[in-house]
Amino acid sequence: MISQFGAMRKLAIMGGTFDPIHIGHLVTAEEVRQEFDIDEVLFIPTGHPPHKASINMTTSEHRYLMTVLATAANPSFKVSKLEINREGVTYTIDTIKELKKIYGEQVKLYFITGADAIHKILTWKSSEELLQICEFVAVTRPGYNKEELIKQIEELKRKYETNIHFLEVPALAISSSDIRYRIENQKPIKYLVPPEVENYIKKYKLYHYAICLTTEKR
Ligand code: ATP
Ligand code: MG
Repeated sequence: MISQFGAMRKLAIMGGTFDPIHIGHLVTAEEVRQEFDIDEVLFIPTGHPPHKASINMTTSEHRYLMTVLATAANPSFKVSKLEINREGVTYTIDTIKELKKIYGEQVKLYFITGADAIHKILTWKSSEELLQICEFVAVTRPGYNKEELIKQIEELKRKYETNIHFLEVPALAISSSDIRYRIENQKPIKYLVPPEVENYIKKYKLYHYAICLTTEKR
């Protein structure tokens, strides 16, 4: 798919459990979009990720809809059901190959990963192939050492002769696990997630929100 000016289109993939999606994800995606002149950022909520298989995850439909709500206002952000619709355990390599088929060869793929994920890449299925097909963008994340991240990137680049980018994004010490913990413990999540996502969580009483509603003073 060639863009309007004949250049190769750039597609960045933002994979995640998004349980729930938060502003750390959105700020990261927007930084990458801007920095690498990306045409489209595709958010892909995971189906059944192998490393999180045993954890009690929110249904795919809820995670997908929250991701749609959170990204709706950005014309360059799209959400894909590719992994959610796949039966069984989902692997990134299968998703990337499927995307190549959908978008054709004329699209350049970027894959966004936080500092916590980059050192795990080698444990992913067909990681070497994955590193050749996509250009990874490894972003900083509070709680993870920046120098360590740069070192890991350099090692991977040397070993696999591939292009991995480093990008420093605004430091937002936010995680979905912390948001779930905050809800369970009746702490506010306002401004940590977009208002649409906060309302959705309340509406469907996700993450034990029922407890919060009964204790909330109005
Ligand atoms: P959980 O706590 O459930 O693992 P999470 O906040 O890490 O949730 P994920 O859905 O696991 O969110 O992450 C998707 C991607 O977004 C990963 O590559 C992760 O590193 C990155 N990411 C998540 N939060 C941030 C953040 N605050 N800053 C930078 N990158 C982030
Ligand atoms: Mg995570």
